[in-house]
Amino acid sequence: MTTQTREQCESLDLHDPLRALRDQFALPDGVIYLDGNSLGARPRASAARAAEVVSEEWGVGLIRSWNTAGWFELPQRLGNKLAPLVGAGENEVVVTDTTSINLFKVLAAAVRVQQTRDPSRKVIVSEASNFPTDLYIAQGLADLLQQGYSLRLVNSPAEIDAAVGADTAVLMLTHVNYKSGEMLDMAGLTELAHARGVLTVWDLCHSAGAVPVALNASKADYAIGCTYKYLNGGPGSPAFVWVAPALRDAFWQPLSGWWGHAAPFAMEPQYRPVDGVRRFLCGTQPVTSMAMVECGLDIFAQTNMQVLRAKSLLLTDLFIELVESRCGHHPLTLVTPRDHARRGSQVSFEHPEGYAVMQALIERGVIGDYREPRIIRFGFTPLYTSFTEVWDAVEILRDVLDSGSFRDERFLKRSTVT
Ligand SMILES: *Cc1c(COP(=O)(O)O)cnc(C)c1O
Repeated sequence: MTTQTREQCESLDLHDPLRALRDQFALPDGVIYLDGNSLGARPRASAARAAEVVSEEWGVGLIRSWNTAGWFELPQRLGNKLAPLVGAGENEVVVTDTTSINLFKVLAAAVRVQQTRDPSRKVIVSEASNFPTDLYIAQGLADLLQQGYSLRLVNSPAEIDAAVGADTAVLMLTHVNYKSGEMLDMAGLTELAHARGVLTVWDLCHSAGAVPVALNASKADYAIGCTYKYLNGGPGSPAFVWVAPALRDAFWQPLSGWWGHAAPFAMEPQYRPVDGVRRFLCGTQPVTSMAMVECGLDIFAQTNMQVLRAKSLLLTDLFIELVESRCGHHPLTLVTPRDHARRGSQVSFEHPEGYAVMQALIERGVIGDYREPRIIRFGFTPLYTSFTEVWDAVEILRDVLDSGSFRDERFLKRSTVT
């Protein structure tokens, strides 16, 4: 089927089973928001919830709220709400700290498990195109461990097979690539790793709430991910950690703070990890920020990842089709795989003047983002993105390209955050 009119898109919206959920988000007028893969939109409920946490729980409850408002239980309670979205079970996930910090914890735990199994394994394998913080954290850990630990980077998923061997401790991959939107085969790569005695760490930053994930069914070992992208937890909201039940109590993790202690208020001088995934907590959590995560998760609880995935694929297919049919005479190269099995919930195109094109789009109210080199990136969040918005976004892109308006000097100025 080819889409030729805006009316066809309006009709798709009319029949969209997720249509009503959009009303649960506060989106500004005049904006087509295609950057929910970087910072999710604000759930309407978050304003009242923030006021309640600040005025009532903090303001009135004061320190009593650790018990009476459930603050202490929050990491685990939110973890349980998040678990179904990533194919995890009850009490297998905690929400805590940042993705970078959680990656350090699980990577260190995985390496420690390997030290007990086969200490000669000292290589962490990953992709050069992985999100930089993942590589930096792995480099930092290898440097801290010394003793010959190192990071081995491959240039494409096809090279992973040859790079994972008898010297490898951990295969650390991001399930959906932040730049290309390419999705990896979690079950297949985990099987490959396990067959060679290697543990897997999966970064789900661009997967949680974006695509169905089956951590237990894929037999993955460790996973981490953020809540401020597709999960709509708010700027800098805490991340999450999952550890396979079989490995959870094999070791603790080096950021062994008191929140992961078996009896935090016994104030013992010696660290003793609590049983279960709570040993992946470190210290006192940012309660105000963490409370916002629940507003996003409560919207997901009204649908499921299969329904979201079906719409996500329709949205990304439509965007690709319209850009190619209506902007095809411009130098745009699709970077994201066409194959559904290999596509996340974003679409990236390369354009020689990508930075300026994106700035011009943002000025016209189409908010996506730019990633080096030359990539313009559009995130599609089925909870609130409509088919009509896809049509309108492509029409604005076509106008920006046809008119050459993006060539204006003001679109070349770089901000700190792109
Ligand atoms: C967004 C993202 C991060 C962000 O990590 P922070 O610690 O929250 O800054 C890490 N890894 C990947 C793959 C990401 O997409």
